[in-house]
Amino acid sequence: MKSYRKELWFEVPTRRAFINITQEIKACVRESGIKEGLCLVNAMHITASVFINDDESGLHQDYERWLEKLAPHEPISQYMHNRTGEDNGDAHLKRQVMGREVVVAITEGHLDFGTWERIFYGEFDGRRKKRVLVKIIGE
Ligand code: ZN
Repeated sequence: MKSYRKELWFEVPTRRAFINITQEIKACVRESGIKEGLCLVNAMHITASVFINDDESGLHQDYERWLEKLAPHEPISQYMHNRTGEDNGDAHLKRQVMGREVVVAITEGHLDFGTWERIFYGEFDGRRKKRVLVKIIGE
């Protein structure tokens, strides 16, 4: 069995963002040389997500509004977590809703997606360097 590991680094200039990382993950699959297997992609931070959905800007605005309704950033005093001196209580909750990781099958050397599936990095507490782990196993 072959195994491949890579860390992708992001530094988002805003507090929140959704970034399509599908091309980066495809490049990892090519670099791995693995034709049949599984590709895990996970955020290595507890205030960021990796998820799969449509690359459609309206949908991303809908996510942003929905997440702000569920866990508004302000007032920051509403979160017990922020009593530690942090201001990212909302980011931890948003990450939980949007998920930590995705696993995609690799078939004949390609990500075996549904028609509209794309991989996104979801940032909820940006303006600093953060990592995504890509782990691919197979033959
Ligand atoms: Zn925190």
